[in-house]
Amino acid sequence: MSPIDQLIFAIWILYALECLAALPRDSFWIWSPGIGGYRALRVQGLPGTPNSGLAPVAPLPFSPGLAVQVWPVSVSPEGISSRRAQHIGCEESVGDAPRFSRWEELPRIESQLSTVFISPGWSVRCVGPHAARTLARRLESLRLAAPAARDGAIRAMLRRGHDASRAKRVLSIGMRRGRYLRMACLALILFFVVIGPALAWRGGLSATWPALLGTLLLLWGYSVIEFNLAHRRLWRRESLERFKRTFVAAATPLAAARGYDNLLRDRLSAFSVLTAGLVTLAGERRAAFARDVLADLRYPCHGSDEEGASHETAVWMREVLRGITERALGQADLGEEELLAPPAPEDAACRSYCPRCRSQFVQPAESCARCPGVRPLAWTERAEAAGVEHA
Ligand SMILES: [Zn+2]
Repeated sequence: MSPIDQLIFAIWILYALECLAALPRDSFWIWSPGIGGYRALRVQGLPGTPNSGLAPVAPLPFSPGLAVQVWPVSVSPEGISSRRAQHIGCEESVGDAPRFSRWEELPRIESQLSTVFISPGWSVRCVGPHAARTLARRLESLRLAAPAARDGAIRAMLRRGHDASRAKRVLSIGMRRGRYLRMACLALILFFVVIGPALAWRGGLSATWPALLGTLLLLWGYSVIEFNLAHRRLWRRESLERFKRTFVAAATPLAAARGYDNLLRDRLSAFSVLTAGLVTLAGERRAAFARDVLADLRYPCHGSDEEGASHETAVWMREVLRGITERALGQADLGEEELLAPPAPEDAACRSYCPRCRSQFVQPAESCARCPGVRPLAWTERAEAAGVEHA
């Protein structure tokens, strides 16, 4: 390998690493490769640490990639719990003992970077700084609310998070205000990983370096300036965050090339995971995503330690979310009956299926192996169960 080959190889490796993002396990990465529309990737199954998975975030900024997360805590009029109300597609990860604090006992709730500090020794990680600020602001407003007003405030907050037309507007404003940044990042990436290396290979580094360096500085400088301007247009008041991110982009062209992703990654974090899926996904992917969200709320997993205020808070919030989700699906023309319709049996021996993860069973089973506490339904039983629920 010649020195120039080594240099180019190093640049590719470094850029590939730039395209890995550590996202919380309870989040989704919604992205599009440029053709074929958006798809949703569950961070739960990706390699990483117990708390975060390494998601490969879009290497080329054709359209914004969006990180969205279920509420990392649950809230009720009484207090706040470390148990989550939603576990779309997976059960609760085994972690520390569940925590619960009454609103009155909590100190001021604040965020720093992507972390929200709830009380001494209790913090949660969000998908980005904007997401953390949004969550901290919401929790702080509930903490300060009059006890009698909290029930209504939580319901209103969750309903606003399911406003699909507002989510569409927020996303399209972000894309419009970031369009020059997108072009700048795309040009910088293409120059950096394709055009630059190709020219250096053909012409030799000694002959081409002045032109390559000049072009690089031009594209890099423009990306940094455009990042700062786009950030100012979108998040006017967040000047400290803007300064930090502009500084990082100015320090390395690889970071500058990720500017569009940095700008919009947590753009939809004020909205529910369902809403983010409904406004970006299409066709069968949209229906499958909606089904996972609905099945999780309808058929939650049951653990062994289901008692106490921590558990009750999660159950209260899940019930509120279930009502809001069912309304949101109705407005999106996704019928609950069609979404939860039984899958076609994989073969004639299959007797029952899990209504949550749709695994199929040959032997009668008390509980699905993947979803603790969820009883598989026989094909004939499905209609009866639906009838009882609607009675
Ligand atoms: Zn299951």
